[in-house]
Amino acid sequence: MSIKNKAKNKLAKHARKIAFKVLKPFLPYILTIGLIFFLICTIIDAVFIQEVQTDSSDLPEEQAQVKEMCIEKSEYLNTCNNLIGNISTNYLLDVDSRETDKLVEWSHLYSIMAFHNMTNGEKINKNLLEKVSKEFESTFIYEPNTVRIETISTDENGNEVVSIREENHYILIESNSIIGHYKYHYEEKVIQNNNSKTIGKVFIAEELIGEKYERLKEYLKSKLMIKEDDLNTDIQIIIQAANGYYEGKENIAWLQADASNANIIQDSSTIIPKGKLIWPIPGYTSISSHFGMRVHPITGAYKLHTGTDVSAPIGARFVAMADGTVIEAGYNNVYGNMVMIDHGEGIVTLYAHGSEILVKINQVVKKNQAVLKVGSTGYSTGPHAHFEIRINGKLVNPENYFKRGGI
Ligand SMILES: [Zn+2]
Repeated sequence: MSIKNKAKNKLAKHARKIAFKVLKPFLPYILTIGLIFFLICTIIDAVFIQEVQTDSSDLPEEQAQVKEMCIEKSEYLNTCNNLIGNISTNYLLDVDSRETDKLVEWSHLYSIMAFHNMTNGEKINKNLLEKVSKEFESTFIYEPNTVRIETISTDENGNEVVSIREENHYILIESNSIIGHYKYHYEEKVIQNNNSKTIGKVFIAEELIGEKYERLKEYLKSKLMIKEDDLNTDIQIIIQAANGYYEGKENIAWLQADASNANIIQDSSTIIPKGKLIWPIPGYTSISSHFGMRVHPITGAYKLHTGTDVSAPIGARFVAMADGTVIEAGYNNVYGNMVMIDHGEGIVTLYAHGSEILVKINQVVKKNQAVLKVGSTGYSTGPHAHFEIRINGKLVNPENYFKRGGI
């Protein structure tokens, strides 16, 4: 090794030593900042990136079983009935995977099953699932499409050489699933790309033949004897329930509610109880939104309004509708500050969007005791009192338990 190199090595060693000495006091900070950054990323990932809910552990055993079966069944269904012309073939996907958003999702099956159970009183079981899912098998029809690719290159003599390659693809021309019956349109096109030319059919548009959810409608009509007047509402309940699962929410309540029996209290001065539950917002009786299907004021989605809204100012008293035990008292993204009270005999009441929670979980409360102050927290456009009644886990229309009295 030359003297020059030796000197170089020594210098480098020295530089490393100095760099380490300078950086050493900062090392704990660098590590801590790194760790905090990692933690923040993990939290953001957990809170904001909601994944498809496939965990059944929170569900009652029977429902968890059905959910698992539905996932399995929809996976099976989604590999069925692929045709090229009239010939059945293996699972195909067109180039843009147009099929994926037309497939039967397990959440659809699950919602239909739950709805079936709700309207027909039939117990959800494997046989019923087989029967229901048979009705909703998807069919995809494909057509062969030969794509011709011409590439122009120059040989060593400077002459242009055209090479031709042909690829065989399948294109989706029709799909019939729970979502709807669609036709797909293509156009023969030449796409020029620098020195290559592609000639083949290119997708231009999809066309819905008939109505959306036509098969579901037909099913509800013929199998569940749903009346024409109730069809749209009931279909919406099923779709919303199915979508609820994909938003990561286990909104069983939507499936259980019976929106068709909405019995609205006519406007007049006082409200008196029909049974043992008292009106929860003393002094305020103006109902601003009823229980039932409605267009959500924030999301614009058509869905079930799970309770009754009463106009009341911030700070107004929200009282327990009967004696009971607080089973929930805290913040929820949808309900804001909320309280849930178990009154026994399968009756649970819920009070939402509060500005202040006045009770704690497990606290025993008396009828007419203030549990929450009216506010506008959670999914709310302004101060109002939202309350709900559940009987044996089913959402009911709260207005059925009160009537207008007085003048
Ligand atoms: Zn409400």
